[in-house]
Amino acid sequence: MINFYPGPSQIAPDMASYMTDAVESGILGMNHRSREFMTLLKKTKKVLRKKLMIPEDYEIIMTSSATECWEIIAQSLATELSYHIFNGAFGEKWFTYTQRIHSKTLGLRYDPEDKLSPKNLDLSEGSSLICLTQNETSNGTRIDKATLQGFRESFPDPLIAIDATSSMAGDLLDFKLADVWYASVQKCFGLPSGMAVMVLSPKAVETAYRINERNHYNSLPFVMDNFRKNQTPYTPNILGIYLLYRTLKRRSAIEKTSARILKRKERLIKTLSKSKYLDLLIGNVEVRSNTVIAIKGERKTLSELKNQALAAGMILGNGYGEWKNTTIRIANFPAVSQSEWKTLRQFLKNFDPEPAQSESATE
Ligand SMILES: *Cc1c(COP(=O)(O)O)cnc(C)c1O
Repeated sequence: MINFYPGPSQIAPDMASYMTDAVESGILGMNHRSREFMTLLKKTKKVLRKKLMIPEDYEIIMTSSATECWEIIAQSLATELSYHIFNGAFGEKWFTYTQRIHSKTLGLRYDPEDKLSPKNLDLSEGSSLICLTQNETSNGTRIDKATLQGFRESFPDPLIAIDATSSMAGDLLDFKLADVWYASVQKCFGLPSGMAVMVLSPKAVETAYRINERNHYNSLPFVMDNFRKNQTPYTPNILGIYLLYRTLKRRSAIEKTSARILKRKERLIKTLSKSKYLDLLIGNVEVRSNTVIAIKGERKTLSELKNQALAAGMILGNGYGEWKNTTIRIANFPAVSQSEWKTLRQFLKNFDPEPAQSESATE
């Protein structure tokens, strides 16, 4: 089966052998304050930095999920008023998580077809933290580099936090343009679920220590204290860290990976443009995601599409949130091979919701 679900998604090649290696190496039985574990964590941070082009002065921690990152940011970096700007289900969820901790959190919804224009936004009411979803997995939209640059220029003071869960390690991100970035590993990293990576600018780290919130097991300064020593506050997902290390070690640099992802997206769009039955959910080319492609169609057509795909050995992703029944989603993640992508394109090219052989002669 080829899995195009956008999370949990297709596992990177060779995962089974990495798992066997993890067991055989003995690392899984090592205490998380042991020399062996500390070395593994140090190497993992190093390979992350190298392959994803994370700036030298940014710090890296691991958490258990993107959802936990929402909670950590709300607890340890948000003050009473912060801004959440979103156009889909994940951005909105993040907003509601923060709202539960700070009831006055401000939410600003925008249309998925719109390109954000930072200089025209009035965010003067709450200026300590701006939260953006760089790649909205529910509708397949993306915030581009120029827009993020616009945020940085228009709002130089607040921290900018970015949910890059379905783009980090697949799309090219310029980490310098924001202060907090995070992603769970079951999307573009191609790993089993259960872990997330969080990247923090010097300003975010400094803010966390200044606020110095230490009431929780995952309070940021406490987590930072540990990661700076290549340790963790609690017994971590050692297997996840090991698999992350091995997978990234094998990956091309992000510039190369993201170029491949972009090219594949463009080819798929070309294929779809010829389809009589399927269309892209997002019409505005400037905001379409590179890594998650949302396709719209009639409910019956999409249901037939998914069934035919299954019969052909492919799992397509269901729609999500308000687009649950009117779209399907396709993960254009690095773990999907070139030939698997070609198989998908061929399938979509030939797709007919009413193929001749399925017409039964009832009545
Ligand atoms: C998948 C996803 C999440 C949630 O990730 P978890 O690992 O389940 O917490 C959050 N944000 C976005 C944009 C996602 O795609």
